[in-house]
Amino acid sequence: MLNSRVLVLNRSYLPINVTSAKRAFIMIYAGIAKVVDSEFRTFDFQTWADLDVQDQHESIGLVNKLIRIPRVIIVVTFDSIPKRQVKFNRYNIFARDNWTCQYCGKHKPKSELNLDHVVPRSLGGMSSWENVVCSCLKCNMKKGGRTPKQANMKLKRRPRKPSWIQSLQRAMSVICYQEWEPFLSPLNRAYWSVELDE
Ligand SMILES: [Zn+2]
Repeated sequence: MLNSRVLVLNRSYLPINVTSAKRAFIMIYAGIAKVVDSEFRTFDFQTWADLDVQDQHESIGLVNKLIRIPRVIIVVTFDSIPKRQVKFNRYNIFARDNWTCQYCGKHKPKSELNLDHVVPRSLGGMSSWENVVCSCLKCNMKKGGRTPKQANMKLKRRPRKPSWIQSLQRAMSVICYQEWEPFLSPLNRAYWSVELDE
């Protein structure tokens, strides 16, 4: 439950991030953010905790009572906007590569995918956005400790660090709760594409 995704809005009600429920609770508890409900009312930690939990709500036991998991929160302070950096982790690499092996181009379930160092670590390859790709186990095995050239294998595309906006858009399109929709309107989407052109 603490891993469910929560949409984070800035003070102008524009989406700026997708975070975990755990992080959202920390922000609400610290007074950095407030919960926004489906009627656009805002709640601080106490007023949110005082709401009754009904059957349809995802909830969690905190401080000896059940509290609803928020779907949308709004940042209420100026200095706490999350850093616009995409974390270098397994999930974000798989997401960047669309859960597709970058050698054979096949889309595979997570259990059949692996991370591959394009230039192997044993040859001085770094663990970086530009040198780590999603690969299927089969291609990974075939490539072994060689470079793509040595293994006569070709990357589908050059790996790069994803932009923060691309990753946010991906997160918002993959997991989208009904409660997020008012904030993902075409107007807001236009706002995001404007930023991309900068
Ligand atoms: Zn493959």
